[in-house]
Amino acid sequence: MPDLITLTDRGLFCQAGNFYIDAWKPVHRTFVTHGHADHAHTGMDEYWCVQECAPILQWRLGAQNYHFLQYGEQRKFGDVTVSLHPAGHILGSAQVRVEHQGEVWVFTGDFKRDPDPTCAPYEVVPCDVFICEATFAFPIYAWPNIYLEIDRLVQWVDMCAQDGKVALLYAYSLGKAQRVLAHLTGRLAQPVLLHGSMVRGVQVYRDAGVSMASSQPLLELPEDTNLAGRLVIAPPSAQNSAWVKRLKAYEHAMASGWMQVRGNRRRRNVHRGFVISDHVDWRTLISTIQATGARRVLATHGNTDLLIPYLRDNLGLHAERLLTVYGDEEGQELAESNVVVEAPAP
Ligand SMILES: [Zn+2]
Ligand SMILES: [Zn+2]
Repeated sequence: MPDLITLTDRGLFCQAGNFYIDAWKPVHRTFVTHGHADHAHTGMDEYWCVQECAPILQWRLGAQNYHFLQYGEQRKFGDVTVSLHPAGHILGSAQVRVEHQGEVWVFTGDFKRDPDPTCAPYEVVPCDVFICEATFAFPIYAWPNIYLEIDRLVQWVDMCAQDGKVALLYAYSLGKAQRVLAHLTGRLAQPVLLHGSMVRGVQVYRDAGVSMASSQPLLELPEDTNLAGRLVIAPPSAQNSAWVKRLKAYEHAMASGWMQVRGNRRRRNVHRGFVISDHVDWRTLISTIQATGARRVLATHGNTDLLIPYLRDNLGLHAERLLTVYGDEEGQELAESNVVVEAPAP
């Protein structure tokens, strides 16, 4: 049987069902796994996604020809059956399950399995072929408990308050910032202050019914407000910008899986790193691959150098690399903001 999903220069293509998944160049019909810029592009005739993804795509891509499925709802395209299942990555993120003549392929998009109050939890979808990301596919990446990282974050805000400083946290503006805010619900005495570029995305999540710590745009406060002891969330690109001068005395930190590696913290030149990622760590990636029962694994983006031999030699799976254009949104944003993040050696 030919491969059910193949790589083309426009995106992943299912010929039997005549549709694409996370296409990056214009096509007639694409499924979209989630709203990050490397997975959701303009120019498609038809967009298919889960209902929960709608407000994010409408925000990022504007008015388009959208079609929505519920999680788990099955739809026929030719004699191919497609359904979307929670990926646990950000609000509205989905894995795409494609079934044709009894063979099942699953494309995860980006995914994680750690607790996240802002989206539906990841669902293991049994399959024959599993297409997954490999963003943090090195054994050094082992996420600490998210609740302990949030405790550390709250302690840091308290310490900054005692020192008369602002606690400035860099977090990616779609997904990460909202997840941190959700975990902070009820934990801080004053509303979290947001950089202007954070405001719209946070509102999209609130409108979708996600509960988060109260927040307020920093610019709404009078110029002479004493900001000591306040937590401010800004995108990584705000570092070294004119905007931060307004904060006067501050400490800055970053929330990202990349912060697990000391060299990244140093290169990033922040006081602190909080290891909070919306991707799976190494162990969870391996255990998830095993849980799907897949005999064949295609790794789309990230660090496949160690993963592929590991899957072949230790788990006896067929494993290959699939060269897509997808990247790590945090990594991309870090790279854009004048510091290059290098993947560390295993
Ligand atoms: Zn993503
Ligand atoms: Zn991705």
